[in-house]
Amino acid sequence: MINKDTVEVFKKVETPFYYYDVELLKSTLELYKSQIDKYGYNAHYALKANANDRILEIIKGYGLGADCVSGNEVKLAVKSGFSPDKIVYAGVGKSDKEIKAALNAGIFSFNCESVPEIKVINDLAAQMGKKARIALRINPDIDAHTHKYISTGRKEDKFGISPWAFVDVTDLIDQCGNVELIGLHFHVGSQITDMSVFELTCRRVEELQKWFIDRNINIANINLGGGLGVDYINPNEHPIAPFEDYFSIINKNLVVRPGQRIHFEPGRAIVAQCGHLISRVLYVKVGKQKKFAILDAGMNDLIRPALYQAYHDIENITSAGRKMRYDVVGPVCESSDRWGHNRMLSKTQRGDIISINTAGAYGQVMAMKYNQRDLAKAYYSDTIK
Ligand SMILES: *Cc1c(COP(=O)(O)O)cnc(C)c1O
Repeated sequence: MINKDTVEVFKKVETPFYYYDVELLKSTLELYKSQIDKYGYNAHYALKANANDRILEIIKGYGLGADCVSGNEVKLAVKSGFSPDKIVYAGVGKSDKEIKAALNAGIFSFNCESVPEIKVINDLAAQMGKKARIALRINPDIDAHTHKYISTGRKEDKFGISPWAFVDVTDLIDQCGNVELIGLHFHVGSQITDMSVFELTCRRVEELQKWFIDRNINIANINLGGGLGVDYINPNEHPIAPFEDYFSIINKNLVVRPGQRIHFEPGRAIVAQCGHLISRVLYVKVGKQKKFAILDAGMNDLIRPALYQAYHDIENITSAGRKMRYDVVGPVCESSDRWGHNRMLSKTQRGDIISINTAGAYGQVMAMKYNQRDLAKAYYSDTIK
């Protein structure tokens, strides 16, 4: 929720820009931290959701580790002060250069996604005289009931190692002197709001880890990934993700072996709601059938609607007029550059300020300069004047 004083400040700032509610980020992290501490779980923040300096600094302050999906993310995590022994690194296509950088950083674990990747990590580690800790990212064949582009745990998805490859994997690890198997990793998708998906994941974890335990292979760590969804429809009503429900479901359904450590990789659920993309109305174009509100923010600033057909709540924060229907669009020369269809907004005119809500995750971090547009700046609630 953006208060009146802040709206007055916005009027003096060039749009579009990202605005981060630092207080909300902190209260989200406080609840998250209290929940993981309650159950003795470990968390690694998924940097790809938002990697702004300020955001990383705040998150690190709550003692979270980092979940990375590229060599540069590993470097950024280390540079930002995340402890290497809390850094995990996933990704189906880790390059030699990236693997070497992560070995040099001494990260906690490579989350490995294929048999040939394990071989390459072993060989590079051997050349460098190191031993790599690895976890197997498993494809548990679960449908996360989310958009197909953010579903990662079905057997047709590119991610993870399928159960039929377990024999090859364990045979290979037996022959490799420079990798140590420390656990299993699962991440089935993103923006998961159907809690039964997490229940099912816990049951699959149990079935799948049995295969290893039956062969006397110790699984010291279970990593359940991220994926918890947030409320894009009514963000003002649900500014914080349902962490209590989520962890209580995990706690009830996951069978934990003695000494096992349980890990999570939250991204979206930590940062989505604290971010807003703030924009001005350039024109209201009135057609025969509909009215278009044309904003100065476009898909290059926040690509989620164009890429995933994602819904974002849109508010006119400077008008109190009666609600009318608008198609809200951006300026970029693509028909998919559209914020919303038939949205109810207070009567809107040129110069009004619009907040596109729940923009903190997979927003600014994906921004680009398409159409040679400037990259939007970021402002933070505790320093904006
Ligand atoms: C993206 C990603 C996450 C974070 O997912 P969210 O849905 O943002 O919580 C966690 N783990 C891995 C391996 C990822 O790729």
